Amino acid sequence: MSTFSITDWASVTATVYLAVAQPETVNIAVVFGTKHVLLVDTGSSPVQGAAIADSVQRRFGRTIDRVVVTHAHHDHWFGLAAFAAVKTYAQAQLLETATTGDDAVLAQQLGFSPELITVPQNLIREWGSFNLGGEQVQLKHFGPAHSNSDLVVYLPKQQVAFVGDLLEESGPLQFGPDSTIGTWPGVIDQIVKLVTKNTILIPGHGKPVDVAYALQQRDEISNFYQHVQKLRSSGYGLQEALLQAESDGDQVWPFNISAAREATICAYAELAQPRHTTES
Ligand SMILES: [Zn+2]
Repeated sequence: MSTFSITDWASVTATVYLAVAQPETVNIAVVFGTKHVLLVDTGSSPVQGAAIADSVQRRFGRTIDRVVVTHAHHDHWFGLAAFAAVKTYAQAQLLETATTGDDAVLAQQLGFSPELITVPQNLIREWGSFNLGGEQVQLKHFGPAHSNSDLVVYLPKQQVAFVGDLLEESGPLQFGPDSTIGTWPGVIDQIVKLVTKNTILIPGHGKPVDVAYALQQRDEISNFYQHVQKLRSSGYGLQEALLQAESDGDQVWPFNISAAREATICAYAELAQPRHTTES
């Protein structure tokens, strides 16, 4: 897990650049205003965060002084320790994740001390905004979906939005115990409502996508959830549903089999214990 590298910066617009950090193939973005420089997501460890800061300094001669983390998964925010001296933002529920034991264990596995896990200073509940100089940055949390701390970063002037893992391009959508599948399609609808139809959407992993792609992924999640609901109400237990997913394959299930398994486990847990859909 320790082989870190970062690709060169590729331009998305004149002031937005994208690089890919390994080993998690996670998108890292930098946005240049006239006064401030924003980093979106920080890599998987404090060392990676520092390497990203260096890379921006060397390539562009400018210093990152604003950081937003799109959600509380380690490949997006464990690099934050390298930015302790600048203004940092994330959704408020990241704090909860930061204080559970799981991340401390993960930090140790990745080879650094859990004390280096840094919580952003500015915790956003539903929305926030700040200015980079000629560039307004809007932060929106539309409720639980991929995780409970997903934060969309929208640049209205550039017509670019960073959506973290709410959308995926390089592989199937990622479902985990902290995902909420029932509300996820509605969250994508809110993103589509927020942005213009020409907006470039930057997923957490993979190439930039457009609104049509987002709506297609929205439908996949929605169809999947309805399918699982139907199985469950027809009396299928989790194990039977998993066997069904395996025998149906991708003809019926929108995701590949390993993603479908994860998503089915997640959906069954969610349906057994419905969560509030309006929490912020
Ligand atoms: Zn994630």
